[in-house]
Amino acid sequence: MSDSQEDLIVPRKWHDALPRESWKQFERVGTGHSWFEVYRVTTDVYALYEPGQFQEVISYLVLGGERACLVDTGFGMGDMRGLVDELTDLPITVVNTHTHVDHVAENNLFDDVAVFDHPFARENAVTGRDHESVKRSLSEGMVWKPLPEGFNADMWYIPPFRVTRWLHDGDTVDLGGRTLEVHHTPGHSPDSICLLDREARLFWTGDIFYNAPLYVYGATADLDDFIESYRKMVALSRHYNWLLPGHNETYVDKEVLARVFKTAEDIRAGEGGEYREQDRRGTVIHRYDREGFAIIVRAP
Ligand SMILES: [Zn+2]
Repeated sequence: MSDSQEDLIVPRKWHDALPRESWKQFERVGTGHSWFEVYRVTTDVYALYEPGQFQEVISYLVLGGERACLVDTGFGMGDMRGLVDELTDLPITVVNTHTHVDHVAENNLFDDVAVFDHPFARENAVTGRDHESVKRSLSEGMVWKPLPEGFNADMWYIPPFRVTRWLHDGDTVDLGGRTLEVHHTPGHSPDSICLLDREARLFWTGDIFYNAPLYVYGATADLDDFIESYRKMVALSRHYNWLLPGHNETYVDKEVLARVFKTAEDIRAGEGGEYREQDRRGTVIHRYDREGFAIIVRAP
């Protein structure tokens, strides 16, 4: 990549887009954990947002009558356990949308962890990720806010974790008066799931959808799976109104899913129109930009 060419994955000064306007619609909840911005998305759903790092990870705390579900445990720079304990006294069940590092980093601090049953997830649970393989996420330009006091950037790694429940497509997670349905939606990663709360009409999408370039180029991504998952997500959409993604922004209108679906099908058919190309360490990627999202695929 030449200096003058904009990186298609990490734009220079990515944090100039912050703070994102859409967060202002929610009540901000003050906590003793400044790495996280906590917002009340609905009366009983908190978004735990990490805008200080390029990924802008969002985890969620979903309160039920008897338990709370922590949807993902973040990127590990903040103190997720301490934050969650500050927000609720309910016992916690962690459910991971998938096992990429930025969603499981503090799984090891929780007793009850539910993950989709796939060899990819089983391997990640056993191995974690060592410092060498994750340190790039803290390198120059990737972190914008001061890292939390007590966080040791030179030692940072993703610990292995114990899974107490292996989830399957169609399973439910019962929080007492509130049920989350598990829908297997591979494409971003083979172990990706969405969670549906029919009563509240909410749909957690993990990384298969967020308002930013959708990565369908990595080693664990697959465009055919991605398209089939979108077919399923769109078919389910009569049961929900709002999307709660794993990055950047939340409470997104579901209408965008049909447009992502169409764009992905067009790309596969070679009819995606204009794209930008870049060679990323040997993988040539094509980026297709649309209103409100982009799709990045491996060059065919
Ligand atoms: Zn991911």
